[in-house]
Amino acid sequence: MKNITVIGAGTMGNGIAHVFAMSGYKVQLVDISEEALKRAMATIEKNLDRMVAKERISEADKRNTLGNISLETNLKDGVAQADLVVEAATENVDLKLKIFGQMDEFAPATAILATNTSSISITKIAAVTKRPEQVIGMHFMNPVPVMKLVEIIRGYSTTDEVTEQIMDLAKALGKVPVEANDYPGFVANRILIPMINEAIYTLHEGVAGVAEIDTVMKLGMAHPMGPLQLADFIGLDVCLAICEVLHQGFGTSKYAACPLLVNMVTAGKLGRKSGEGFYKYTKGSKDLVVADNFK
Ligand code: NAD
Repeated sequence: MKNITVIGAGTMGNGIAHVFAMSGYKVQLVDISEEALKRAMATIEKNLDRMVAKERISEADKRNTLGNISLETNLKDGVAQADLVVEAATENVDLKLKIFGQMDEFAPATAILATNTSSISITKIAAVTKRPEQVIGMHFMNPVPVMKLVEIIRGYSTTDEVTEQIMDLAKALGKVPVEANDYPGFVANRILIPMINEAIYTLHEGVAGVAEIDTVMKLGMAHPMGPLQLADFIGLDVCLAICEVLHQGFGTSKYAACPLLVNMVTAGKLGRKSGEGFYKYTKGSKDLVVADNFK
């Protein structure tokens, strides 16, 4: 594989482009928004600068990495030469089904089509293509250049050969791939999101406060970040959406979202990205301040 196309240049797409380009692959980064493409290149450059400053890569590595990335707003042109397409567009089922229909139409017949979805069924996405055996989940973690794990999710029809190729490719990026089957939440979110939801229930029922819950999990379980802080980092809307996928997918009440989580999302308190969740976020400050509602 030489030519990789990444669809979507947001938080995940720019990180995915970064790691492929740094490993010497030619990357076409595609987004409908020129603004998003510009922002992505600026982010990649800033992250490479940080790596140069830490002497993890040289100036020449940085230049080569940036030189391996080209930008495109037209999906048809962007996927025309691809050996692999990694879709990292907005988490919306209808959008992903539409994009996969287009990817299938315009990418070479031999290309593997991967998705970075956190929660949508790979089998469902594969079903809109004429090559379901070549569709697979490649679930990178945020921030992509730092996090080692890539969950590799086999859809119902994904072949052993395609799975092996993608596992090897992830290793070539310096990542650690883990194979999983296509069930709601895969492995990472099936375990993580119910833990976060339980932490929110623990708060909701008055068992302990925000800082106390996070301290128990940090100091007691050696988690680098407490579950409520992590929920803010992921985005409470994203946590709720994944809870709903688990709830619908398994049909059991154990995955039902805590009413407090639902209320906070309805009120627009989405965590770090909206400025407030369980904690309050002020630009320029790294202090962790519990939000007024939980004091
Ligand atoms: P984001 O909102 O930061 O970026 C999405 C990008 O997709 C935007 O730049 C948008 O312009 C672009 N886009 C929308 N429609 C498009 C189209 N038709 N063609 C091309 N580009 C299009 O989202 P994100 O956080 O980077 O998430 C992307 C995917 O990665 C989602 O499936 C999400 O579930 C998954 N994911 C996210 C995280 C995370 O922590 N953010 C972690 C793992 C996986």
